[in-house]
Amino acid sequence: MTKRKALMAGNWKMNMNAVEGCRLAADVAAQCNKGYDDREVLLAPPFTILSEVSHALEGKGILTASQNVCWEENGAFTGEIAPNMVKDAGGSAAIVGHSERRHIFGESNEMINKRVKGGLAGGLMIILCIGETLEEREADRTFTVLEEQVRKGLDGVDTGQMEKIVIAYEPVWAIGTGKTASKEQAQEVHAFLRGLLDRIYEKDVADTTRILYGGSVKPANVNELMAQPDIDGALVGGAALKADSFGSIINFQ
Ligand code: PEP
Repeated sequence: MTKRKALMAGNWKMNMNAVEGCRLAADVAAQCNKGYDDREVLLAPPFTILSEVSHALEGKGILTASQNVCWEENGAFTGEIAPNMVKDAGGSAAIVGHSERRHIFGESNEMINKRVKGGLAGGLMIILCIGETLEEREADRTFTVLEEQVRKGLDGVDTGQMEKIVIAYEPVWAIGTGKTASKEQAQEVHAFLRGLLDRIYEKDVADTTRILYGGSVKPANVNELMAQPDIDGALVGGAALKADSFGSIINFQ
């Protein structure tokens, strides 16, 4: 089976000015000194400092991403950022479909799919976030909801494009709440998602696509999560805002 390279991603959300962000980026880079070649590190700062942070990380082997991306290349789309703008600012990836975009800003699966396809067309790696709410989990709808988010989010994305797709499973009830899915709950969903990729695409896509877990990942739980066979990395919010905690996460055992 193909060995998947872990991806440890920090989502800074709406935090950090330029000085703070460049300092944090440099401190995170200093934590990446173990010479691991089995993992990649990515930081997603706010749009306003993507350029400065990318610049501060030049030559350090750390990827940068925007926290969203538009499907259009330019024009009258107030508040949006085009794939080329992300690349111009030094980014090589975009987070799409984060639960805060879905639940606070009302982004639908259809809109998220346009973002996925636009970002791919613009040459970006896409981290497609999916996740069920607590009500959906309690109503036993977890797999139905996730399947719909994956099928609609990836609609029109072909097998060849899947190498630029990373899926982040982030149960909404675990994001920023301090509640983490247990390693068993997370593994069960990741295995389901890998099977789903096999059904939609083919075994090779299922074997090679990275599926990250997100939702209150911290130094205390990263090792047990990363030990699960279908968990290929983490998308980290709160604990990515401090270099020492994100450093411990990056350097999971
Ligand atoms: C996130 O924002 O993607 C996230 C998982 O946040 P937190 O780690 O704070 O739960």
